[in-house]
Parts: sequence; structure tokens; C-alpha cells
Amino acid sequence: MKLYNTLTKKVEEFKENVPGKVSMYTCGPTVYHFAHIGNLRSYIEEDVLEKTLRYAGYDVKRVMNITDVGHLSSDADTGEDKMLAGAKREHKTVMEIADFYTKAFFSDMEKLNIKMPDVVEPATHCIDEFIHMIEILLEKGYAYRSGENIYFDTSKLPEYYVFGNQSEEELMVGVRDDVTEDTNKRNKNDFVLWFTKSKFEDQALKWDSPWGVGYPGWHIECSCISMKHLGEQLDIHCGGVDNIFPHHTNEIAQSESYLGHKWCNYWFHVHHLNDRAGKMSKSKGNILTVTVLQEKGYDPLAYRFFCLQSHYRKPLEFSFDALDNAAAAYTKLLKRTLSIVKQAGNDPINQEVFDTYKAKFLDAVSNDVNTSSALTVVYDVLKADIDNATKAALIRSFDEVLSLNLAAETEEKAVEENGEKDELTLYVEEMIAKRVAAKKEKNFAEADRIRNELLEKGIVLKDTREGTLWEKA
Ligand code: AMP
Ligand code: ZN
Repeated sequence: MKLYNTLTKKVEEFKENVPGKVSMYTCGPTVYHFAHIGNLRSYIEEDVLEKTLRYAGYDVKRVMNITDVGHLSSDADTGEDKMLAGAKREHKTVMEIADFYTKAFFSDMEKLNIKMPDVVEPATHCIDEFIHMIEILLEKGYAYRSGENIYFDTSKLPEYYVFGNQSEEELMVGVRDDVTEDTNKRNKNDFVLWFTKSKFEDQALKWDSPWGVGYPGWHIECSCISMKHLGEQLDIHCGGVDNIFPHHTNEIAQSESYLGHKWCNYWFHVHHLNDRAGKMSKSKGNILTVTVLQEKGYDPLAYRFFCLQSHYRKPLEFSFDALDNAAAAYTKLLKRTLSIVKQAGNDPINQEVFDTYKAKFLDAVSNDVNTSSALTVVYDVLKADIDNATKAALIRSFDEVLSLNLAAETEEKAVEENGEKDELTLYVEEMIAKRVAAKKEKNFAEADRIRNELLEKGIVLKDTREGTLWEKA
């Protein structure tokens, strides 16, 4: 397994701490809003990484937190409390907001075939662990009390910017809005471990602590939750690139100061999904969610396919045109794989051929999670002069990692079972066929009439290179 490590800025041969076992930690969502499809890009890529490791034979334990307290609108401890802002926006309690958006996130994961991590832990369940870690950091002299809050003292570290020479611009990535200088800090990068004096008079969630009633900072939760379930040595830590600074930098600072030794060996960062206006972000509002994609007629797995077509270490530009192309290619791929499964029946497979292609696929995905090369292997198998039974077995095997429901007969059943949708599909397809025929005869008036008739019924047609696609308006 080869993995790019943000810590060393190199593609490295992956070496686990305990032979055969991999511990993996994922920064979970801040549950004050729906996850947008950018957030979900990160979770899709992390899911492929986990499944690749399992496919390669590792016994993986993966842990994810749910941030339901402590995350301010700037990742550098300033701005609004995100959970509180969500509660105010919707006239609900913070816990209601957390519960609602956690469930929405799980539902998105399910739609995108993202495996639930082995452990999912909300930050509010681990307050005792946070307090314990902060006590040790104070004892060891890595933390101080000022203005009634507890801060981590970054000047005590031999090296704080462990991820290298970030430019000022990069350093500002996590600092979103409303940045006001905190005069209690001894050093500019010091960060809050525990708030007792909050600027939010109506802070909803507070707990007793040795320093008074208060609540934890954001960064402490990932260090604690990871150590609680995965121990003192972590193999892989994941997140989007915006987490590199300050979140992951601060996690390393406090974890290694607490432990007195190196904590995590590999840092896996997924680059952003951007739209024309730049990075997709929850705080910008008007975000694209999986539900919105579904309402527009897209299969969520077409979005997963769209993500897998490119590499996780490159920014990905989202547009509906690009998604349309991916959706058309995905539908075609589904049809091809389904037809192979049907033809294959229960014929025996050719083990030698199976092993050869499986090795090619594993080579591709374990080369720093190169999903587009892995998809090329899928197409190579479809084109290859090999029997259908072996092809079907290979496609099913690859789908353990890709999770695109390739060769899954349920895909066909899902369409059959949905009578209403099926009827609509049949009708629209018939109209599209008529329109194609009209265009062939250069009867453009008739073609336009058909388009308008469908539009009146709320169906929008899109002409693409792959043919005419449709969606509900
Ligand atoms: P949040 O819910 O804001 O804490 O973010 C959840 C995850 O999504 C984190 O790993 C972020 O780094 C990641 N993320 C945020 N914005 C994007 C984006 N536009 N593209 C990809 N990943 C993102
Ligand atoms: Zn985190």
C-alpha cells in the first residue's frame, strides 16, 4: 500500500504499527447543518481508503467523532458557536439540532454507500476524557489559564508547524470570519482547550470542570476520541485539506505533548470540491446536498462515481454538466455490468484470470488510492476476451472497494419495484425516442413541441454526447 503522507509530503510505503492491523481516525461532521457534497467528497475518499485496506487484507478499526460542541465559526477559536447558530436559526435546542443533522449525515452516508465507521462518538459523550487530558497538559506545563479559559501554549513546542511551511494565505484557510484577536493568548497560535468565560451568554451546553463550568474547545475532541478507542499510536488520520491548519496541527501539538511521543504516522487529506465560486462551504449557505441532487433526478451513486473518476489529491470542480457526464457513464456502466451478471448465470470462473485482474485492481487502488486507474481496470475487464462468469465475479469483487452497486441485481429490482417511477420513465423514454426520430427527420418544430410538452409536466431534457438525459425540474 502506497500513501501520500502530508507530514512528509511524500508518497510512502504504508507500514502499520501492529502487523496486520490498521487504526484509522476520521474527523467527523460538525452537525449544525446538512453535509454538502464537498464534505461528502472527503468521506467518500476516506471510505475508499478504508475499503482498500480491508481488500488488501488488513484488519481495520476506524473511529469517527461527531462535533456537537465547541466548533466556532472560525477554526481558530473565534466567531460564532456553530451549534448555537444552528439552534437559533431553526428555533430548536442545540441537542435537537445535533440529533437531526447527525441522522441526516448518516442517511447521506447510506445513500452514498459509505460504510459506517466501527465507532462513531459524539464529542458531548467524552467530556471526562477531555478534562483528564487538559489536566495532564496543565501539569506538564503545556497549558495555561488566562482570562478564565485554558489555552494550549504553542511556544513550549520545538516545532509547531509540523505540516511545513504554510503560507499566510494557507494558514488563513481555516479562519473563516469574524476574526478578533484574543488578548488572553500568550502566543498568536495558542488555542483554547476549555472555555469557562464564553462570549456566548446563552451557551447551551456546559459542564463542571476543575476550572469552573464551561465547555471544551474543538481540537481536543479528536485527540481524545481517537486515543480512547485506538490507543496511543495511530496509523492513519483523515480529513479534508482545510483541517491541516489549525485543526490537525493543534491535534498533533496537544496529543504528542500529552503522550510524550509520536502519535500518528500517516496524514491523509482530501482536496476540496469547488464550484465556480470557489470552495464549497457550509457557512456560505445555499449548499448542494445529496437530497438536492436526488430531487434533481440524480442517483447519489452517480455522485460517488463522479468523485472516483478523479484523484483525491486534486481539487475537483463541480458543475452539473460534469455530473451529467458522470451520471450517463455510470448508468451505462451499471447496464453493462448487469447484463454480464445475467449472462454469467452460475458458470464456473477462471481462477487464474480472476487472480490476474484482481492483482491489477489492487495495484491501482493501493497506489495512493488511485480510483481513476481502478475504474480503468473495471473497463478493461468489461472489454477483455474472458468469460462472463469470471467478469461478473471480478466486478463484484472490485465493488467491495468502489461500492457503486456494480453487478448488483438490486439495482434492477429497485427500478422494477418503483412502479410509479418506472411508469414515468417509460413515458419519458418514449417521448425522447419520438423526439430523436423527429430531429432525424429535421422536424425541429415537432422536437420542440415534445420538449415543451415534457416541460409542462415538469420534465427537463438535456442533450449530451451520451444522448438525451432527463430530470424533474
Ligand atoms: P465540517 O462538517 O465542516 O467539520 O467538515 C467535515 C469534513 O469535510 C472535514 O473533513 C472537512 O475538511 C471536509 N470539507 C469541508 N469542505 C470541503 C470541500 N469543499 N470539499 C471537500 N471536503 C471538505
Ligand atoms: Zn478532527
